[in-house]
Amino acid sequence: MENPFISVRHLTKVFSMGDEKVYALRDVNLEIARGEIICLLGPSGSGKSTLLNALAGLEKPTKGEIIVGGIHLEQLNEAQVTLFRSLNVGFVFQSYNLIPTLNAMENVTLSLMVKGVPKKEYEAAAKRVLSLVGLGDRLYHRPNQLSGGQQQRVSIARALVGKPKILFADEPTGNLDTKTSFEVMDLIKRIARKENITVIMVTHDEEMTVYADHMLHMRDGAIERHTRKNEGTNRSAAERQEVREIIAAASQGGRDND
Ligand code: ADP
Ligand code: MG
Repeated sequence: MENPFISVRHLTKVFSMGDEKVYALRDVNLEIARGEIICLLGPSGSGKSTLLNALAGLEKPTKGEIIVGGIHLEQLNEAQVTLFRSLNVGFVFQSYNLIPTLNAMENVTLSLMVKGVPKKEYEAAAKRVLSLVGLGDRLYHRPNQLSGGQQQRVSIARALVGKPKILFADEPTGNLDTKTSFEVMDLIKRIARKENITVIMVTHDEEMTVYADHMLHMRDGAIERHTRKNEGTNRSAAERQEVREIIAAASQGGRDND
């Protein structure tokens, strides 16, 4: 790759548990371009979350390099990593991690309030991203007044409000039914393409790999298989059809029209 946005070189992460050493990542090498969607797959304990956390600057490598947009993450101190994250990174979690007592607007604006962004600005930013995820008419609902899919949309809006370049998602559809999972992934992909955001997501669900540009199958802390899909110009139409077919199959015996 000529100008990778993310480069990982010889990334190794060892956790020491008393006398025992756990190799969570073993010599991982990887290049990712800006705006690509990456799915991390593999059995439990294979290193998916550790790789995600290392790329997000949450976990310092034992060995190796992580270069994002020309910045060597492994060389930054804690304050610099925190700044890097607040400027570049958004997170989406399986369990949404919304604050139950706050409404959608408040959940989305919290990080901007903490940063000292003026009220007028953060409110406008929150309305923009909540509309983007299709919740323009649910601004003042609290999490328990929203469906699971809607709560995940709020958490996506929260991840986007700081205008990240990378969106990290650990099992974002893990708590959602199949139809809602496809809707949420459709949304993530549409926004990622529109705003040129790189998406790195962990998933158990092979069906969700229809959205990926790269699939990384991990085993024992290493990338066992790296599948790169070639992006054809007509791919999104074909993809949409593929998704429609999968949804139709999943809701078999349902309605006649879609
Ligand atoms: P996955 O997300 O694929 O299930 P993880 O990245 O969470 O896997 O874990 C990879 C390996 O590293 C596992 O063997 C796990 O037990 C170990 N591990 C992860 N985090 C820690 C930690 N903080 N301390 C010790 N061992 C850890
Ligand atoms: Mg994990």
